[in-house]
Amino acid sequence: MVKWVFVTGGVLSGLGKGMISASVSKLLQSRGNHVVPVKCDGYLNVDPGTMNPHEHGEVFVLEDGGEVDMDFGHYERFLDVTGSFDWNLTSGKVFQSVIDREREGDYLGETVQMIPHVTDEIKERFRDIAEEEDADVMAIEIGGTVGDIENMLFLEAVRQLRQEDEESVLIHTTLVPFLDTVGEQKTKPTQHSVKELEGAGLKADFIVGRSDDPLEEKTKEKIALFCDVEEESVISDPDIDNIYRLPLILEEEGLDVQVAEKLGLEEGEEDMQRWKDLVETMEDPSEEVTIAIAGKYTDIDDSYVSIDEALKHAGAHLDAGVNIEMVEATDIENGEVRVGEALSEADGVVIAPGFGSRGTRGKVEVARYCRENDVPTLGICFGLQMMTVEFARNECGLEGAHSAEIDEDTPHPVIDVMSEQLGVEKKGGTMRLGGYEAELESDTQVQEMYGEEKVVERHRHRYEVNPEYHEILEDNGMVFSGTSQDGKLVEYIELPEKRFYIGTQAHPEFTSRLESPNPLYHGFVQSVLDR
Ligand code: GLN
Repeated sequence: MVKWVFVTGGVLSGLGKGMISASVSKLLQSRGNHVVPVKCDGYLNVDPGTMNPHEHGEVFVLEDGGEVDMDFGHYERFLDVTGSFDWNLTSGKVFQSVIDREREGDYLGETVQMIPHVTDEIKERFRDIAEEEDADVMAIEIGGTVGDIENMLFLEAVRQLRQEDEESVLIHTTLVPFLDTVGEQKTKPTQHSVKELEGAGLKADFIVGRSDDPLEEKTKEKIALFCDVEEESVISDPDIDNIYRLPLILEEEGLDVQVAEKLGLEEGEEDMQRWKDLVETMEDPSEEVTIAIAGKYTDIDDSYVSIDEALKHAGAHLDAGVNIEMVEATDIENGEVRVGEALSEADGVVIAPGFGSRGTRGKVEVARYCRENDVPTLGICFGLQMMTVEFARNECGLEGAHSAEIDEDTPHPVIDVMSEQLGVEKKGGTMRLGGYEAELESDTQVQEMYGEEKVVERHRHRYEVNPEYHEILEDNGMVFSGTSQDGKLVEYIELPEKRFYIGTQAHPEFTSRLESPNPLYHGFVQSVLDR
């Protein structure tokens, strides 16, 4: 029988529930359980694919082409599993299928209602996933905070499921602020949030208190008393610099042992040694490098999280600390800062993915500066496209060359919409999404890094290097080091005389995990260190 771990949150959002869910899952996995992570999001979008990073942080792309909540990035990076689009339940997805079923006649004779029809749909999906995956443990994170109207149906489904299937635990995450004026950790917000949870008919088995410093003994006592949990079940989750340390902290707090006990999971031998070693290297590396990410959502932390993490994974395997510096492409384009100045601290540069025109001129400037100064540079998706635009203008003499996405009237659309995208009008889930295979050219830097002839990486784009310009780009020294199977679509570019000037149409950051870094990112950080 499958066991259930539910993770909810209170007081405010952004407490890192995703990380907690990923960490608990990691610990249970390391004891030999097959853990499947699921995320529920209350919004009505079917998926986050059409939201921008200011709304939602990064959109994570799965192997199967699903655009999902960025918590899936944490799940995959921690658990080294490959997620499925079905594992991200949104209200949009759930309602859509209930309404479709009603039109099909699945509920003939009935009044279709939130309870039981929508809640049944949610439970059915949870159970279907458990069965399909043959899961020992389902780790289900409910997004948002208790009390939000949009999460009520998910919480109600959880309540019913706990009633029907006894073997479950609920971990509730809250904020425990430190009040300077009284010099004390305050538990009242936690108390209120637990009341709110109880109002939804749910009882917490564990309370994880997010705080600046570890929870004090008396804070734990008080939370235990007022929130009706054992004192040892109040878990401290203080601020940390390295998110990969969290499983180790939760382990020290005894969370995994208690969860396993409550669920009646078999006593497996826990194996976190390799993880521990990597975490320690990350925290005390022999060398440090600074890598700039030139992008346009630099005011929020979450916009390029998979890129940040992929760089750090590579660093952990190369005994190097990677300091990440955000460089705002819009500032360069507006002349607020000169490109050389903006990149003066950078040992290497990533040119970020993106959509739309803002920041484009800045990214082209960055590409030029890096090429001319032989700075190790990795262009991701739109980054590859801007490297190509710059190369076309300055090395191929194609004045005014651009991407047709940005300038429809460019005389040289070196980046153009893919033929398969012509006529695509709907915006939701219609890009070239998910894992596609590329064939790598022998004797190229890219092929050497991967050490394979064929690689699969995930994608999310509508535009490509225009086939009509392949010849002129190649004649001027650009090497297409990887193409799609039919040879038509450019997947990797490189300039062989540079130390590392490589772009990819894919997003290799989505497959990087702490325990197995992505080869391209690994090679990039290696080249930054060599420099
Ligand atoms: N906007 C570009 C395209 O659609 C690049 C997308 C991206 O960087 N992910 O092709």
